[in-house]
Amino acid sequence: MSALRLVLGDQLTQHISALEGIDMDNDVILLAEVRSEATYVKHHKKKIAYLFSAMRHFAQSLRDKGYQVHYTDYLAEDNAGSLSDEVALRTQQYQCHQVICTFPGEHRLLSDMQTWSERLSIPVDIREDTRFIASIQDFADWAKGKKQLRMEFFYREMRKKLNSLMTPEGQPEGGKWNYDAQNRKALPKTLNVPQPTQFTPDTITDEVLALVNKEFANHFGTLDGFHYAVTREDALKVLDAFIQERLALFGDYQDAMAQGEPWMFHSHIGLYLNAGLLTPDEIVQAVEAEYHAGRAPLNAVEGFIRQVIGWREYVRGLYWFKMPGYEKENFFNATRALPGFYWTADTNMNCLQQCVQETHDNAYAHHIQRLMVLGNFALIAGLAPEEVNNWYLLVYADAYEWVEMPNVSGMVLFADGGVLASKPYAASGAYINKMSNYCKNCHYKVKDKTGESACPFNYLYWDFLIRNREALRSNHRMGMIYNTLNKMDETKVIQIQEDARLFLNKLDNHEKV
Ligand SMILES: Cc1cc2nc3c(=O)[nH]c(=O)nc-3n(C[C@H](O)[C@H](O)[C@H](O)COP(=O)(O)OP(=O)(O)OC[C@H]3O[C@@H](n4cnc5c(N)ncnc54)[C@H](O)[C@@H]3O)c2cc1C
Ligand code: SF4
Repeated sequence: MSALRLVLGDQLTQHISALEGIDMDNDVILLAEVRSEATYVKHHKKKIAYLFSAMRHFAQSLRDKGYQVHYTDYLAEDNAGSLSDEVALRTQQYQCHQVICTFPGEHRLLSDMQTWSERLSIPVDIREDTRFIASIQDFADWAKGKKQLRMEFFYREMRKKLNSLMTPEGQPEGGKWNYDAQNRKALPKTLNVPQPTQFTPDTITDEVLALVNKEFANHFGTLDGFHYAVTREDALKVLDAFIQERLALFGDYQDAMAQGEPWMFHSHIGLYLNAGLLTPDEIVQAVEAEYHAGRAPLNAVEGFIRQVIGWREYVRGLYWFKMPGYEKENFFNATRALPGFYWTADTNMNCLQQCVQETHDNAYAHHIQRLMVLGNFALIAGLAPEEVNNWYLLVYADAYEWVEMPNVSGMVLFADGGVLASKPYAASGAYINKMSNYCKNCHYKVKDKTGESACPFNYLYWDFLIRNREALRSNHRMGMIYNTLNKMDETKVIQIQEDARLFLNKLDNHEKV
C-alpha cells in the first residue's frame, strides 16, 4: 500500500504534517508547479520565481534524504495543469491507495481538496497544519461568544501558551504585555539603514528566472535584482542578520518610512515564514534569547514577537473563522475601481508613487507602507474590497489569502465592520508627513487642506468621514473626530467635498492625479 504525499508550495517544511509517518520505501511525495495555482491571480514575477525555486530546492533536499519525490516541472509535457488533476494523475501513475496532505492556506483550495476522495475513490487525509501555534479550533474556541475579537487579548493567550517573555511567576516580562508606547518613533534626520541580506541566484534559480521571464511576461513586477533566499539554510541567514543588525531598532522605527529605503528595520522574513522555510516557534526563541542576553531591548523584542505570534496567528484564525463569506464583506459599500497607478506608479502623490514602485521592484513593502499609504488611500477613496484584495494578493511575495484578506478587508478597509479593528485606520497627510520624508518631494503640499495644491489625503480623509457618517455613528472611538467635524466651518466642509469630488472624478476618468 502506498500513499501520495502532497506538499504545496507554501508547505516547504521538513516536519510538515503531510510527511509524518511516511513509508520511505513505498510512499511518493508530490510537488507540482501547476498553471492554475500560478495564474489564478497574476502573481508578481518575483513571487512565482521565489516559490518555484524554493520548491525545487526543497524537492532536492528530500531526495538527498532518500525520499521518493515526483516533481512536476511547469513545462513538463505531462503537467496536468491543476493540483486536483496532478493528484489524480500521480495516484494512478504510482498506484497509490491514499492521498495525504496538509490543510491549505486558502479556502478555495480546501473546498477543492474536500472533493478529491469522491473523485478518486480513495481516502484523502487532510491533516492539520501544525506549524501554527494556535490551531483553527483554538481560535474558534477563543472567539466563541465574544462580541469583539481584539488581537491584544488573543496575543496574551499565545504568550502564555509558548511561555514567551513570561516571568517564572506567570507575569509578562517587565510587568506589561505591550510596549508600543515606547515604539513608533518618527524618522530622524539621518539614519543608517543596513542593506538587506542578498543571495546570488544559483543554477536552479537561474533556470526558474528564465522560465518566469518567458512564461509570465505579462505578470506584475520585475525579476531584476532577484536576491531572495530559496532554501531554509539561507532563510536562517536572513533571520540571523535581522537579529544582529536590525532587531534593536525594530520597535523604534517600526512605523517609519523613508524615500529610497524600502527595507528599513524590518525583518523581511514573511515570505520565508509563510512558505515554511522558517517556523514561528524558532523565530520567537531566537529573538527572545537576544533579550535575555541583554543584546536587544524589551520594546523591540516584545514588539516583534507580537507581530509573529500575535498578529500572524490572529489573522489566520480570523480568516478561517470568517470563511466562507469574509471575501464578500463590504461595510461601506465601496465600489470604486482600483486606479491604474496601483500598477504603474504613475501618480503625482509621492508617497503612493514610492510605495507602488517599491512593491513593483521588490514584491515587498513594509507594514506601514501597506497600511497607512497604499491601504489608507484605498479606504478613504472608497475602493472596492474585491479589487483591493486581488491587488494585495498578487503583488507581495508573502501573500496568501489567509493572511492577506484579514489585513485588507479587516485592517485596511474596515470591510468587516469592525471585527478586526475597533475603528478605521483612516488618516490625513499629516500622519504620512510625521512618519516619513515623502512629502518633501511631493507635487502636493501636505500643509494645504483644500484647493488644487492640497494633499489629496487631507480632503479625502474628511470626505470619507462625511460620506460614512451614518455607518460610523455608533462607533464610540469615532466620537471625538466627529465632534471636530461637527464644529467645522460650513464653507470649509463644502470646499472639502468639492475638492474630493473633483479628485475622485479625475480618478474615475483615468486622469493622472
Ligand atoms: C494591507 C496589508 C496586507 C498585508 N498582506 C500580507 C500578506 O499577504 N502576507 C503577510 O505575511 N503579511 C501581510 N501583511 C502584514 C505585514 O505587512 C507583513 O507581514 C510584513 O510587512 C512582512 O514584512 P517583514 O517580514 O519585513 O515583517 P516585519 O515587520 O519584520 O514583521 C515580522 C513578521 O510578523 C508577521 N506580521 C507582522 N504584521 C502582521 C500582520 N498584520 N499580519 C500577519 N502577520 C504579520 C509577519 O510574519 C512578519 O514577517 C499585510 C499588511 C497589510 C496592512
Ligand atoms: S503631500 Fe500628501 S500625497 Fe504628497 S507625499 Fe505627502 S501625504 Fe503623500
